[in-house]
Amino acid sequence: MADANSGPEIPRYPLLSRREALRNIAVGAGAFASGIVIGQSTTTPRTVERVVETRASEKIYISGETIENPVASIKIEGWNLVFDKEKLGRYQSSPDRVAFVLVGAPFYTPPDMNVFRAEPVIRALPSPEFRQKGLIYLHFTETDKSGGIVRSEVYPIKLKYYSTPKKDEFETPRIFSEVQLDPDLLEKAKKTAEALGQLSYYTPIYIYKNDDPGRGGDFDPSTKRIDLPSIMFTDPVFKDEGIIRLSHEMAHAIMSNVINNHLDPRLNVMLVEVYKNLVLAAATIDPKLFTFPMRTFSLFGAPEEVRNNPYFSIFSESSYVKTDANKDVLATYSHPFSNHDELFASALTVLRSFPDQFIARYMTLDPKMREPIREVVQTIIGPLPQESEGFPMKDFLPAYDRLIKSLSIKVTR
Ligand SMILES: [Zn+2]
Repeated sequence: MADANSGPEIPRYPLLSRREALRNIAVGAGAFASGIVIGQSTTTPRTVERVVETRASEKIYISGETIENPVASIKIEGWNLVFDKEKLGRYQSSPDRVAFVLVGAPFYTPPDMNVFRAEPVIRALPSPEFRQKGLIYLHFTETDKSGGIVRSEVYPIKLKYYSTPKKDEFETPRIFSEVQLDPDLLEKAKKTAEALGQLSYYTPIYIYKNDDPGRGGDFDPSTKRIDLPSIMFTDPVFKDEGIIRLSHEMAHAIMSNVINNHLDPRLNVMLVEVYKNLVLAAATIDPKLFTFPMRTFSLFGAPEEVRNNPYFSIFSESSYVKTDANKDVLATYSHPFSNHDELFASALTVLRSFPDQFIARYMTLDPKMREPIREVVQTIIGPLPQESEGFPMKDFLPAYDRLIKSLSIKVTR
């Protein structure tokens, strides 16, 4: 798929007049006495008295990288800008410096001077540059004692919905098992963990000896590890039970480590939105059982009408497997109706493991029913990194191209 965002382009940024720079300083100085201020972007250049040309960085920065500047090293962590306190402190105590202003970045009021955090982000970014290319600009202006600009630099930053660990930092999730696994199965488990691990931070997998037919197993956000009982591998109730469960738990790890970590909240917000739309669509069939937020069915599990609601069953792993297992066992596999996290984990696993059955089922739906389902797939796979960026799409989502085509998914990277 062509990526509309590819190809670096250097932004044409307006020169900043001294007066505008001063105005920004004044605005900031009123708000924070720290000497570090953030202002909104200036737009049109005015009559220029004294200007230092704005230099735009050719490099487009992404999350995880550091902008090196003589004033401060700034690490980009999603929507957070983390300043090198020591370097900044040295600069601030220097007798020469007067002010250092960040202008034009759509970052909001910093809660403290060292970590700039952008909270109300989605509506705060009206610029076409951002909407079309996902680019925001961090603009530095450094002034001397008379308020004259001595340096003016622009750094483009590309925000991405999914952040990926850098190649040299990527660590394949390791699998520790208390039982001997069939070598082919172990190989398959490793491949699954490695493929899905591309979007997560290191998540070790422990297969512990447990023959309890009730199964169990989970991803624990506090320890950041996945625990699976061995019975899923040694005595599966359907084909590839352990692998499918591993895939589901790895999706939870992606959700917890990447999507839900508050660095870039957009994807999280969008997932809640499409989940809510799915619940509301399900409520058109069953208004008593589907309300938003969704009720919980902890003690006896969800009733059949909930599990079989077509808006959710299409995203349930258990609805695609052939098995003699009873429904209580299967219920632990798929409850995409519970919340957006479970929807993400189940949907991604279905799209990986049963893509063609999923597409076939989607096609048989009344066209009026398709949109909220399509929206879920759009939100999950539209922003995925691309093969051309070195992302192993063939392993991560083997049917990516077919899904894109069949559901008219737009790449929104
Ligand atoms: Zn789950």
